[in-house]
Amino acid sequence: MLILFKLVLASGNKGKLEELRSLLEPYDITVYSLAHYPNMPETVEDGSSFLENAIKKAKEAAAYTGLPALADDSGLEVDCLNGQPGVMSARFAGPGKDDAANNKKLLQLMKDVSWEKRTARFRCVIAVCTPEGELYTSEGSCEGYILHEPRGTGGFGYDPLFYIPEYDKTFAELEMSEKNKISHRGRALQGAVKILAKMAGREE
Ligand code: IMP
Repeated sequence: MLILFKLVLASGNKGKLEELRSLLEPYDITVYSLAHYPNMPETVEDGSSFLENAIKKAKEAAAYTGLPALADDSGLEVDCLNGQPGVMSARFAGPGKDDAANNKKLLQLMKDVSWEKRTARFRCVIAVCTPEGELYTSEGSCEGYILHEPRGTGGFGYDPLFYIPEYDKTFAELEMSEKNKISHRGRALQGAVKILAKMAGREE
């Protein structure tokens, strides 16, 4: 039986919307973004973990829209910096600073760190929340090293500094489809798709 299932993505990011829509295509799940709800107040991302922020965003979007909502929160954790920038990844160099400034700050902090100690991972947590308050979460991560200088022109954020030994490439040198297969967000989304397929009565 085909059940029509609607979901709202608690983000205005077009790239994320397209990626989620294409992954959910086989399941008859219609995805709206918050662009459909321009009056919804923006969620303040003040949690101390990716999990807290993802849950907060999903809960607020479900309460406002009356639809099940999916939210993600992600960032980079560098081991020699005790997990920084973490939840501060987007604003590591300060409010209003761009990716280049964040990358510059990271390289400056790590300038004396040897190669074997430059381990890091991207992490992504996805929360799915229904208007009735049911909550599900899914996580993904991807391990790599922080280079001494940027390489590659694709992607965004810390991608040009994030090196994956198995591919001998940075995230910024991978094709988008390759990155989506192994990235923290891609992996967390694969888990979320299973949760949503179940919710929609379309189990794999
Ligand atoms: P968001 O939670 O997806 O908005 O990501 C927060 C921040 O983490 C971004 O602004 C980037 O600085 C960083 N980040 C998250 N995912 C990636 C990625 O795939 N590549 C590079 N940077 C990322």
